Amino acid sequence: MSCRKASYIIEKRWVSKISLWEKLSLKFHLMICNLCRKYESDSKILGKILKSLNKHEHSSHLSKTDKDALKDALKISE
Ligand SMILES: [Zn+2]
Repeated sequence: MSCRKASYIIEKRWVSKISLWEKLSLKFHLMICNLCRKYESDSKILGKILKSLNKHEHSSHLSKTDKDALKDALKISE
């Protein structure tokens, strides 16, 4: 699996279900690739934000916690 595909699955995981095959291939790729492992741990913060946004899709404002998490996520991507 390429890093491009791995990062695609990492992101896809937050917004939809991934197949068992995708899950296994990703797991295997993360075992051999430091870069994607780093990306995966960074993306956990982003994933939390996405999940909480989905949960509160009817409210138009971010809570303070969401804002702080977003700030942290932005810090990481700098
Ligand atoms: Zn990789």
